[in-house]
Amino acid sequence: MKKTLGPSPWAAAACATTVVALGVPGLARPAQAEQVTQTVDPAIASAVKAISPARVQADIEKLVSFGTRSTLSAQDTTAISAGRGIGAAREWLKTQLEAYSQECGGCLEVKTDEFVQPVGARVPQPTTLTNVYAILKGSDPESAKRIVLVTGHYDSRNTNVLDTTGAAPGANDDASGVAVSLESARALSKLKFRATIIFLTVAGEEQGLDGAKHFAQMAKEAGWNIEAVLDDDIVGGDKSPGQQADIVRVFSEGMPSAADEKQLRVIRGLGGESDSISRELARYVVEVGGAYSPGVKPLLVFRLDRYLRGGDHSAFNDQGFAAVRFTEYRENFNHQHQDVRSENGIEYGDTLKFVDFGYVARVGRLNAAALAALAAAPAPPPAVKVITTNLDNNTTLKWGASAGASGYEVIWRETSAPTWEHVKSVGDTTTTTLEISKDNVIFAVRAVDKAGHKSLPVVPAPER
Ligand SMILES: [Zn+2]
Repeated sequence: MKKTLGPSPWAAAACATTVVALGVPGLARPAQAEQVTQTVDPAIASAVKAISPARVQADIEKLVSFGTRSTLSAQDTTAISAGRGIGAAREWLKTQLEAYSQECGGCLEVKTDEFVQPVGARVPQPTTLTNVYAILKGSDPESAKRIVLVTGHYDSRNTNVLDTTGAAPGANDDASGVAVSLESARALSKLKFRATIIFLTVAGEEQGLDGAKHFAQMAKEAGWNIEAVLDDDIVGGDKSPGQQADIVRVFSEGMPSAADEKQLRVIRGLGGESDSISRELARYVVEVGGAYSPGVKPLLVFRLDRYLRGGDHSAFNDQGFAAVRFTEYRENFNHQHQDVRSENGIEYGDTLKFVDFGYVARVGRLNAAALAALAAAPAPPPAVKVITTNLDNNTTLKWGASAGASGYEVIWRETSAPTWEHVKSVGDTTTTTLEISKDNVIFAVRAVDKAGHKSLPVVPAPER
């Protein structure tokens, strides 16, 4: 069902524009609806299976063994050799990442981002903070500039956020997220990817997202092209009644915190409130979950974070990066930010006994599959535009060629739909016209390579 149109005012340079007819003209639904999914790459599927509950358990137990990982706790050599405090945790993280690197012939570059956090409301004296991370460099210099990142915070706290010595096991918050970063590093370092993957663990979250803020700002200033940030914070699957051990929430901001007034006007005018780059990332995670079946289903939550709470993903959002937060389905607040104790038969504290290591491993597999799918994919198409020269019930899209792409897909959904509903493969072209009104649906374009890896989708900007 293809026909060719003659020259049109909005495709003057081309001798002809292919119009893709999809069932009844003007309706959103094509005659044969295809599912908007991700393609399973057997190598990725096999690598993520290596993420194991036993390794997760060992990682979390080790982190808890440092007694406290308060950002304000000891980090001198005596404390480090005694295995107590955040300094000991930091050294252990470096050792772990270096061990994974040895297993893959030095494929990981292990680095630290160390800085002095000045005095603030939750930092009584200037304090050295250290983010620890490993880089799995992309396969060639150009594509390696694209970065996808997974992070968790290795600091912990108890009731008093300024307590530097009392027990603060932080098994769920957030040794669980650190275990996801570590296990992703171990599993994915066995493979090679087009883009670069960073496995990050940060300090200072409980003092005010200090580590993540510093890292995101450094990335922004250095001009790093971070396409995706997966922040895992409280993914322990607390074993209290009401938990759904097969669901993980994925939080994403709607209106981008980094948008300027002009961008916000466009979003308001065209109904782009649910199409921030972070939300597209969240939808991508859902597609990966469907394709790779990691044993846990991502539940989209269309808000930045839970009530009264914040997290490191927002530090990346503030710098204009796509970032989402993974958190267990149902939190038990008695087991977070609490001194370990028992009162009136209620147990308080973030201890090992409440963590479901199998759940953490499943969330880890979902994260690793998403990282791998993103890093294996071509770059998202640049300069995606919807032509709005004339009043018209068709839609003409154009975009720039994407490195590594062998073709492109146009995806769309009703404006009221939460996830992408329809997909049309348009081949190796950089423009297409569809007989669907741009006024009635939301479109995006994504790049696809020969093996079927799909990029993040890009929603077009209007072009007159
Ligand atoms: Zn946390």
